[in-house]
Amino acid sequence: MSEDCIFCRIVDGEIPSRTVYEDDAALAFLDANPLTMGHTLVIPKDHYERLEDVPAEQATDLYAALHEVVPAVEDAVGAPATTVAFNNGEAAGQEVPHVHAHVIPRSPDDGATP
Ligand code: 5GP
Ligand code: ZN
Repeated sequence: MSEDCIFCRIVDGEIPSRTVYEDDAALAFLDANPLTMGHTLVIPKDHYERLEDVPAEQATDLYAALHEVVPAVEDAVGAPATTVAFNNGEAAGQEVPHVHAHVIPRSPDDGATP
């Protein structure tokens, strides 16, 4: 837990969010500023800043969560495809320094530019 991390505070329930999926190691919740309907963030519950900071076991847990979340989100919004993306580091657009996967439901001509 990092006191000044927004996503740690979401994990702790201090900041409300719309939970999509939860297990022991990971949490998925709707993005506050969705690029497309159903845009979801999937995070490890433990605080790691960058992708390469996540230990292998927790990385496997994060992938397992994505394995559940991606098809569930596609089904929920009726999207045929998904962009899954990590902004890894500030210069890549990472604004929240807690590792997160963007799960962005996609459809033809949706105009999204993830
Ligand atoms: P980044 O730019 O770090 O890759 O993405 C951060 C994402 O977190 C953005 O898409 C932004 O909309 C989302 N976000 C930032 N603060 C909050 C928050 O308090 N709640 C939720 N649900 N999403 C947030
Ligand atoms: Zn954090």
